[in-house]
Formats: sequence, C-alpha cells, structure tokens
Amino acid sequence: MDNPSQYWSLAQAINTAASRADNRQIFSAMGAQRPGPRELALMLQPQARAHLEQMAARAKSLTARHFGNTVSLYAPLYLSNYCSSGCVYCGYASDRKQPRRKLPFDAVARELDALKREGFEEILLLTGERTPQADFEYVQACVRMASELFPQVQVEAFPMTVDEYRKLNLAGCVGVTLYQETYHPVVYDMMHRWGPKKDFAGRVSAPAHVLEAGMRTVGMGVLLGLSDPVVDSIALYLHAEEFRKKYWRSGIAISFPRIRPQEGGFQPAHPVEDRLLAQIVFAFRIVMPDVPLVLSTREKPLFRDGMAGVGISRMSAASRTTVGGYAGAPAEDRGQFEVSDRRSVMEICDMLQAKKIEPVFKNWDAVYTG
Ligand code: SF4
Repeated sequence: MDNPSQYWSLAQAINTAASRADNRQIFSAMGAQRPGPRELALMLQPQARAHLEQMAARAKSLTARHFGNTVSLYAPLYLSNYCSSGCVYCGYASDRKQPRRKLPFDAVARELDALKREGFEEILLLTGERTPQADFEYVQACVRMASELFPQVQVEAFPMTVDEYRKLNLAGCVGVTLYQETYHPVVYDMMHRWGPKKDFAGRVSAPAHVLEAGMRTVGMGVLLGLSDPVVDSIALYLHAEEFRKKYWRSGIAISFPRIRPQEGGFQPAHPVEDRLLAQIVFAFRIVMPDVPLVLSTREKPLFRDGMAGVGISRMSAASRTTVGGYAGAPAEDRGQFEVSDRRSVMEICDMLQAKKIEPVFKNWDAVYTG
C-alpha cells in the first residue's frame, strides 16, 4: 500500500463489516477453500469464540498436512542490550535502569558453544537499535561466527538497508525478524517515544528491504496488547499477503508475542487473554496453512503445550532474554522481558514427544528454496 496508515484503516473497515457475522458465515469462513482477509476477520469475531474447538481441529489438521507432526525449535541469543530507542514496552529502552553490555567475540563464541551443546541448529541473534557499540559490522561478524556452527542463523535487530541485508545474507544469515508492533499509526507514535524506531513508515517498509536483498524468510508480527488485537492481526495479514504475492520465492513466518512484565512496568491497554490468542493462532493457520507460525517462551508452559502442533509449528526453547544468558549474564540484568516457560530443551522435547510430535532442530525450510 502507498500509505503505511492504510493497513490499519483497511483492517478496521474489514473488521467492522465482519462484526455483524452470524454462525453460518463464521462456519463458512472456517471451511473456505481460499480464505482471505474477510474470512480471517470473521474467525476473529467474539461470536466465533464459541466455535474455538472446531477452529482448533481445522488448524491441527492443516498444521499436520503442511508440517507433518513436527515442531521446529530454535533459541534466541541476545548479543547486546544497548539501545537508543524509547519503546515504552521494552526493558531495554534507553531510559531503563539495566546494566548495559555487548558480548565481546570470545563471549559470543562461548554462547554459541553452549547453544550447540544443547542441540540447537537454529538460532536467532538479537540486538537493540543500531548503536556505536552494536553496529552493522558487529552484527555481521557475529552472523559469520554463528554460521560456522549453525546451519540456520536468523537476526532480529535494527532495520537495515537492502545492501546491508545482502551482506548479512552473504555472511550466512537466512532470515530476519522485524515486528511492526502495531499498525495503528497514532498508538505506534505513542509507544515509541524517541529514537529510530519512532519512524512508523520506515518500520512498515523495512521487511521489503529484507526480501529485496534475497533473504530466504522474513519474520513478522505485532506485539499483542498495544492496540485492538483483532484489527492489528488483520492489518498484519494484509501486510504479509502483500509480501507473499510480490516475493513469492521467499517465505514469511508469523509470531504472536504478547506483552510480558518488564523493567519499566508498562501495562497493555488491550490485554489479550489465552482464548483470544488461541483464536488468533487458529485463524492464521486456517488462512495461511503453509506459513510457519511461531510461539516463544513468553507464553506459559501449559499454553505452549496446548498450542504445539495445533497451529504452531515453530517454538523457542530454554530461552534467556539477557545478554550472555547461556554462559553467564550479570544477576542484576532483568532481560528484555520476563520469560514464562523456563523448561529445559529436554523437557520441551519430552512434552512434544508425549503429544506424538517430533521436535526438529534442523529445519531447512525446503519449501522456500525453490
Ligand atoms: S524494542 Fe528494540 S528498539 Fe525498542 S527499546 Fe527495546 S531493544 Fe530498543
């Protein structure tokens, strides 16, 4: 779309039209052969919640059809918590009292070794906004180190230029995660108090740079709780579908992060309950049957157990959200946010196997390689 605010306004109009839906329309959306934004909106209405079990059954069967009975596992690795932005929901915002550090390369090597010993083959390297301490060259060097040990290296950092993404790709990075947080332009402006992340239009256009650079996947998502979660979910779908049409050789993945307690104590204006989050995941699986859907350790064990294989096809495990969390972070670092699921990799694997789901550590995403 030409104007980045249009995702929100169009999603709002689609949601308003769907709000008058009856049961017949909701059932027809659940079984549609080629579902689109209208069907997604119908399945996200409050009156559709009475049919959550039927939605779960369809989501489960589509997940099994497209991903087999598998869930792929990955681990996040925080490289640096320096940040120049003031995102109100983040424990690493520049006004939060946190010990700031960046992993020197020998510590990066220790973290990578610790994750490799846990059995991981996929890792996600994270930083805050671009800073003199953790700039592009630093991230590029860490990707190079990681790709010597891990076949799948992804990055969640600051938006980069197409040329930088190309260089990152050459260094061994196969995917980039860039959450929009919210598509509501006014709320976005309020939540991002200062710094480079305040640029709403720049944030909306950033995933296109990732795919233009030839990266295999881009991870998208909204931070559920900042704005109306249903409208934000529809806007996210509209944005993601645009990329799927334009960059059809690449892939996308969708995550469903909810706001967690963090240094700063921000409380969401639109808290998302478990049943609504489940409804959002099931509806996305039905409208995007072949797209990896991701659930992190932000969520409680019971909820993650219930969602594994029922829409969700990718999960983080044994995550630390502190810099150097796997091989020694300072005790006073509270991390970017609090983790809910603190189980070990072995415990996650046992849980999945008890549900007859195979944990997968190496996921080549063959569907995207063409
Ligand atoms: S969300 Fe990212 S950019 Fe925003 S304050 Fe936190 S680390 Fe910085």
